[in-house]
Amino acid sequence: MMNSFLTVVFLLIWCNNIFAIAPPIILPTPQKCEVLTGKCPLSQIKNLKRFHDATIPAEGYRLKIEKKGVNIWCSDDSGYIYAKQTLKMLAFQYATIGYIPCLSIVDAPRIKWRSFMMDSGRQYQRVSTIKKYIDMMSILKFNRFHWHLTEGLGWRLEIKTYPKLTSIGAYVGKEKEQQGYYSHEDVQEIITYAKERAITVVPEIDIPGHAEAALNAYPHLGCFGEVPLVPKEGFTQHIFCAGKPETINFLKNVIDEVCDLFPSEYIHLGGDEAPKGNWDKCSDCQGRIKELGLKDSHDLQLWFSAEMAKHLKAKGRKAIFWGDVVYTNGYPLPDNTVIHWWNWRGHQDLAYRNAVKGGHSVIAGTNNYSYLNFPLSPWRGYHADRTFDIEDIYRSNPSNIKGGDSLLIGMSASLWTDYNVTESMIDRRLFPRIFALAQQMWSQTNDISFEQFYGNVKMLKPFFEKLNYEFGPGLKSEVPSNYSWE
Ligand SMILES: [Zn+2]
Repeated sequence: MMNSFLTVVFLLIWCNNIFAIAPPIILPTPQKCEVLTGKCPLSQIKNLKRFHDATIPAEGYRLKIEKKGVNIWCSDDSGYIYAKQTLKMLAFQYATIGYIPCLSIVDAPRIKWRSFMMDSGRQYQRVSTIKKYIDMMSILKFNRFHWHLTEGLGWRLEIKTYPKLTSIGAYVGKEKEQQGYYSHEDVQEIITYAKERAITVVPEIDIPGHAEAALNAYPHLGCFGEVPLVPKEGFTQHIFCAGKPETINFLKNVIDEVCDLFPSEYIHLGGDEAPKGNWDKCSDCQGRIKELGLKDSHDLQLWFSAEMAKHLKAKGRKAIFWGDVVYTNGYPLPDNTVIHWWNWRGHQDLAYRNAVKGGHSVIAGTNNYSYLNFPLSPWRGYHADRTFDIEDIYRSNPSNIKGGDSLLIGMSASLWTDYNVTESMIDRRLFPRIFALAQQMWSQTNDISFEQFYGNVKMLKPFFEKLNYEFGPGLKSEVPSNYSWE
């Protein structure tokens, strides 16, 4: 009697396991996901009902999958869009069995600034390629597309006031994918496409350095009126002159046109890697230093940055600068200045500390470990000390600060294209490592081990592959010895 009772119990457990469906996997991990009894046929999940709930935090949502359809509560459009992205991920996982288990999900972001940067300056990407990565950002719940549009190797943004910026500046690079620019129509199309996916496009005009392409178009804007050679890698001493009034006027006119085109509250004005060799020798720059009582050429960059930030402030906008601008103090930056902390390898947290000391908001995007152009194994100019894998990000990203200063507004991921990272190489640099960054930006769940997280990434790989994203290796130990990053 006892034996047959145990057999029945065993059979019940066994049957339950056989028919148990796989638990849902959502990345970035939501705050709460509870499996309820019952199931919702896939044919019913398009039956969406949206409800306004002012108590739900910005960009957050509550999602309930029920037998007859799906209810979404949110306080803004972003929350609704993110809820639908979550639903899409779930629908794929359960496509073969034809239904999703009934679920209740509560979700909201950990930090408010979650950006992904694409370097379209060194390498030009087609509009369709830009859209592909905007789609990726939306699925992974990024909310800002930081678009790096100017570089020594190419000025990519049409400026109608100064047509040579693109007619000359967009074609100074020699490689096939270094030719081209984005017209106002292209930009409008991308802004609209991004907005529909809860993403704001933040343009970057990098000044005063990385200016060789612009100075090929308008040489008189440099210190000595020379047409600079365009370096294949790195940067030269040829930067915009901060002493000449016509250069300052030119750049303010460019900023005016950028503001007319991009509704973003934030405009990125670069400011990184601006060597002062020419400024030290230029009579206009030295004259300005003397006239304003500045300390030296770095102080002149602070004045120059402050001048541009004030121009943006008058338009109700905020200026973002790379951390280089605050390595030393001096001329005060206005209160609409945000510092983008990047150079962990060279200066650790210097920019973060100095920005906070100056009362400026900070975006954390340290090169180790959020520059996804750095491969997992050495390639071209990326030597061993510029390689990292998904585990390095997950465990040791210095930008992933919990409970940091209240001025820390968010995090960034970046894809630079130096050493000619062309379109076909981008996917395998982003995937799967970008999941770790998305998780750190969005998820409020702290208790997931790396092993469990990476297991979830692997489970979702087919979903992203179906959307035409190609995965590279995730761990250094997974890189085959003959692996090609090209
Ligand atoms: Zn000068």
